[in-house]
Amino acid sequence: MPRGRGRRTKFQEKLARERIEKLFSFLHYNRRSTIISPDKCVKLVKLISKRYNQRLSGKDKSKFCRKCDSVFTASNVRFRISNKGWRTVTCLSCGEIYRFQI
Ligand SMILES: [Zn+2]
Repeated sequence: MPRGRGRRTKFQEKLARERIEKLFSFLHYNRRSTIISPDKCVKLVKLISKRYNQRLSGKDKSKFCRKCDSVFTASNVRFRISNKGWRTVTCLSCGEIYRFQI
């Protein structure tokens, strides 16, 4: 089986993808059981996605602030739907505004 030297294999990429998904699933039930802190989850997700060149989906990106790494909860985020069909997400921790297309 041919394998490029030093390149990441499909298997490694798949593994990275699975790790990211797992970390995001931690964010959801983190409020009750603390396996890993939400901030740590975000940092790990960013690290893995950068290292393995895994682009996060728009849905995943809208779960945390890329500027200050805080996980969006009901208290630190404001969602707005613009009349052009954009979803505007404002991080109330640092004031950063993100726009996502629905
Ligand atoms: Zn922020």
